[in-house]
Amino acid sequence: MLFPTHLLVAGLLGRTARLPTPWLVVGAALPDVVDKPMATVGVVDLYHSVGHSVLWLPVAVMAGLVARTGLAVAVGWGSHLLLDVVHVVVNGRPESVLSLGWPVVAPADPLAIPPGSFAVYYAGTPSFYLEVVIWVGAAVVLARSRSGDGAGDDRPAGP
Ligand SMILES: [Zn+2]
Repeated sequence: MLFPTHLLVAGLLGRTARLPTPWLVVGAALPDVVDKPMATVGVVDLYHSVGHSVLWLPVAVMAGLVARTGLAVAVGWGSHLLLDVVHVVVNGRPESVLSLGWPVVAPADPLAIPPGSFAVYYAGTPSFYLEVVIWVGAAVVLARSRSGDGAGDDRPAGP
């Protein structure tokens, strides 16, 4: 999914997960903040590599057990990976899930499109429209919370 959508979902998680939202957002940003620049400058061949690798799962679990901040980063990171899995499956490239096993396994035919070009390629795909639904849903949640019509408040209006 697109980088802003990862951050948005982490922000939404912060509304319900009772974890510090800034650290959820940091965790959700980590995979792309680490991997995209490394691939752009040629350190690695894939745009999903070290930051997207599930081999970090034991570290994430340990971070979650040690501190609430660590748990928030781990949950944010996990949400990023989960959304990327949804994205590739929805777009008919389930074999791309193998990138989560970097460096042990890798997809046979990975997309090797830099981030800017990727956004153009991605627009109009089924996953793109899923992201549109996520953004509209987030706007509805935000609008409802600002109008005082948020969840849990079903008292009638008036004196
Ligand atoms: Zn990603």
